[in-house]
Amino acid sequence: RAKKKGVSQLVYFNTRMVDELRDRSMMLSELKESLDNQMFTLMYQPQVDLNTHQVVGVEALCRWRNKQNEQVSPDVFIPLAEQSGLILSLGEWVLHKALDDLHRIRCIKPFVRMAVNVSTLQFNDPDFEKVVSNALALAGLSGNCLDIEITESVGVLGSVEVEEKLARLKKLGVMISIDDFGTGFSSLSYLDKLSADQLKIDKSFVSCMNPINSGSNIADMIVALGRKFHLNVIAEGIETEEQFNALKAQGCHQGQGYWFSKPLVIDDLVNWLEQK
Ligand code: C2E
Ligand code: MG
Ligand code: MG
Ligand code: MG
Repeated sequence: RAKKKGVSQLVYFNTRMVDELRDRSMMLSELKESLDNQMFTLMYQPQVDLNTHQVVGVEALCRWRNKQNEQVSPDVFIPLAEQSGLILSLGEWVLHKALDDLHRIRCIKPFVRMAVNVSTLQFNDPDFEKVVSNALALAGLSGNCLDIEITESVGVLGSVEVEEKLARLKKLGVMISIDDFGTGFSSLSYLDKLSADQLKIDKSFVSCMNPINSGSNIADMIVALGRKFHLNVIAEGIETEEQFNALKAQGCHQGQGYWFSKPLVIDDLVNWLEQK
């Protein structure tokens, strides 16, 4: 009996693996087709100064619908695009599209910056700076319109290789943010060498904020780190007024989250900005 059960489990496991592999390769070929057929879209989430309530930036967030017209989370399709190398062309499309849309945004709010997520593979591509400067040139925009969000996984932050690359990007005027700060596994020893401009507090550190632990949480410590190392700090995932007030009281500069606005399609963002 035990043997029989063991066998059936084995079979179940195998078919599941085969299913997963088939799903992945189907999704991958769909992803490739989607890029050719311009099936990706971008949504934009406002980034707000916590003191003045002014919109200082918007973050471009990629969206994809598969053939069944189901919305697939970027947490699923971005890693797949990364593993397959498709992220290089997808990432380039995102840059072009986001900077193109920034013109419409700047008609209403002239100093708003566009924040674009850049994956590790993109950042480590030897052509990355060229891709960025070409996208800026094509849009007729200067580097200070753009904020590039990288994560700790791009390599050893503070290392010569990464810092040289960041320095070249900064020469273009581009702003650099460390996304999901505190969720990676790198040490903090790089902070004094880091030529980034901004730390983004991951939403997991914001969602656990409550009146009881306020003042002794991780978000609070990241704000203090930012102050110490002269880095701007922005919190993501602000969903409540309590979180907003606590972050503001701690001296966090900026924030984004559902409490201000969900990510919006460009037309809705333009309306939202006009109403502000
Ligand atoms: P991220 O860059 O850390 O983006 C923040 C995520 O939090 C977004 O999820 C956003 O929609 C969501 N969010 C914003 N405000 C709130 C809030 O108040 N509450 C909650 N619960 N969530 C909030 P999304 O759009 O699903 O993106 C997930 C991740 O996928 C992003 O995390 C980013 O790492 C990646 N991603 C999205 N677009 C791109 C892209 O164009 N290129 C690359 N390389 N990665 C992207
Ligand atoms: Mg981001
Ligand atoms: Mg983030
Ligand atoms: Mg995140």
